[in-house]
Amino acid sequence: MIDVLVVGGGPVGLATAICCARAGLSVTVTEPRTAPVDKACGEGVMPAAVRRLAALGVNPEGFPLRGIRYVDAAHQADARFRHGHGLGVRRTALHAALAARAAALGIPVLPVKVTAFAQDADHVTAAGVEARYLVAADGLHSMIRRTLERDSRTPGTPGQSRSSAARDRAPQRYGLRRHYRVAPWSDLVEVHWTPHAEAYVTPVSPDVVGVALLFAKPRPDRPSAAGHPAATWQEASDRAPDDESGDFKTRLSAFPALLDRLAGADPASELRGAGPMRQNVRRRVYGRVLLVGDASGYVDALTGEGLGVGLAQADALAACLAAGRPAAYERAWRRASGPAWRFTAGLLWSRNQPLLGERLVPFAQYFPRIFTTLVNHVAEA
Ligand SMILES: Cc1cc2nc3c(=O)[nH]c(=O)nc-3n(C[C@H](O)[C@H](O)[C@H](O)COP(=O)(O)OP(=O)(O)OC[C@H]3O[C@@H](n4cnc5c(N)ncnc54)[C@H](O)[C@@H]3O)c2cc1C
Repeated sequence: MIDVLVVGGGPVGLATAICCARAGLSVTVTEPRTAPVDKACGEGVMPAAVRRLAALGVNPEGFPLRGIRYVDAAHQADARFRHGHGLGVRRTALHAALAARAAALGIPVLPVKVTAFAQDADHVTAAGVEARYLVAADGLHSMIRRTLERDSRTPGTPGQSRSSAARDRAPQRYGLRRHYRVAPWSDLVEVHWTPHAEAYVTPVSPDVVGVALLFAKPRPDRPSAAGHPAATWQEASDRAPDDESGDFKTRLSAFPALLDRLAGADPASELRGAGPMRQNVRRRVYGRVLLVGDASGYVDALTGEGLGVGLAQADALAACLAAGRPAAYERAWRRASGPAWRFTAGLLWSRNQPLLGERLVPFAQYFPRIFTTLVNHVAEA
């Protein structure tokens, strides 16, 4: 029996495995997709996350980022990082670097999609492997999380609170991303704002920039036959839904200044999509099964700290397991995730308020010190 089975070899799953191995635990990862795995992502790695990766012995190639720029039709605000630099990194480069480090530590990666698991008092079984603990790092639409939540629902559980019912009716946010072959015009991540969407531009090499669009879509009226919302874009599917390709161009046309920058540039990657992004998760510890990364809950890509928070969770989780205190992870998870998630939730709420939303970029321009402090709060979270 091994100590830890990590289900999902995305960046947070691999980082968790690396942290566990370094803490002296025997660990195996299952990941059905062939390395290096790509995914819809803004690909901006914040300075604290760059340092966390380096501490794991992971130094992916990328484009140094010096800060964040907010742009709308009439305003522009720049905030520089105060402590070190961030990195624009292709997901494939990040995944390859993490996978190489895991391989160097002798961590086996099984090419298996986990479809079922079982736990009893002293171990967990999945994919034919017995482990003392199972870590679910299987992304936004985690099968393991959904199974645990379904199984732990007791009959007669009171209905939803009014606030969670309202939240469940609110439009859901999605992301689409594509790369363009053009020399970066800035070493800042540019966030272009319109009333209904944001476009993120992240330089990832001297001749390629990534563009990620974040936007809301109304909720589908009815769940699909499979039981989840019809509009769920499964992480495991490599591409965005077919009809989104035209949609990407239409949505991009709402950002004329960005279109000018991209004029004549060839696409340098396939379109990919992810969402809905928000995943409200009540708990992270179910006996010997623990959740990490996007599987453990997610707010939004608006502030681009998902990877940094996931790496902090991975570190905390490995420390709890190495100490034989899995239950302590719930608190450690809150400490690792809370500051960034609260800020993201606050900014998302503000951007959706009719009068407040349109004043965010002007505010950032007129109060650059406050803007810089807030950006660095997230960058260091
Ligand atoms: C549009 C968008 C833009 C973003 N921009 C940024 C950004 O600029 N900066 C940033 O830091 N973060 C960003 N994020 C967030 C970041 O992408 C995620 O937080 C990060 O990918 C989480 O990593 P993960 O390993 O938890 O999940 P994932 O990267 O989703 O990996 C999950 C892995 O689990 C595997 N898997 C799934 N099911 C199973 C199964 N049943 N069995 C075995 N394996 C399975 C999948 O194949 C996948 O490889 C963005 C997110 C979106 C959607």
